[in-house]
Amino acid sequence: MFAGLTVDGEPVTVLDEDVSVRMEIDPDACATEYRCRACGEKLSETPRGFETDRWGACCPEFEPTDDSDPDFANGTHDPQRIALSWCNGAGITTDTEQDSVTVTLSVGDPRGAFALTIRRVPADADSELAGRLVMHVPYTGEPMSHMETTALHPGTYLLGPPPAVLRHTDAA
Ligand SMILES: [Zn+2]
Repeated sequence: MFAGLTVDGEPVTVLDEDVSVRMEIDPDACATEYRCRACGEKLSETPRGFETDRWGACCPEFEPTDDSDPDFANGTHDPQRIALSWCNGAGITTDTEQDSVTVTLSVGDPRGAFALTIRRVPADADSELAGRLVMHVPYTGEPMSHMETTALHPGTYLLGPPPAVLRHTDAA
């Protein structure tokens, strides 16, 4: 088995063993989810509100509508969510022994991930499925799930605790 690894379509290397490729997103700042729309600094959420290491709670770029504004030069940051800050990383693992490829995506605990695996049932297996491909996907109620999932439509899941309106009630 060999595999060619490409990044943005450019060949990087050829691998001749089982492959495990992982892309980490901003590994040094995984706790940072917000950035200030005005000054551009990364923000930490504190009990007092959003703050930066450099400026504290006061935003140097805060723009009051006029200088009689009591918040003039003393305004707070304008938080916006940083794109992809929900993702710790993604990976691809091949396993020649299992004849499988697994794609992983980590959105919660960085030690774990959601995994989608396709494998081929061995041709000599005593099964109607011998030689066929099967796909394993995360599902609602999965033991040891990477994160709570709630099915919205077949193949579409909400991740994390569901809003009250989606919670199943036991009232029958
Ligand atoms: Zn700011």
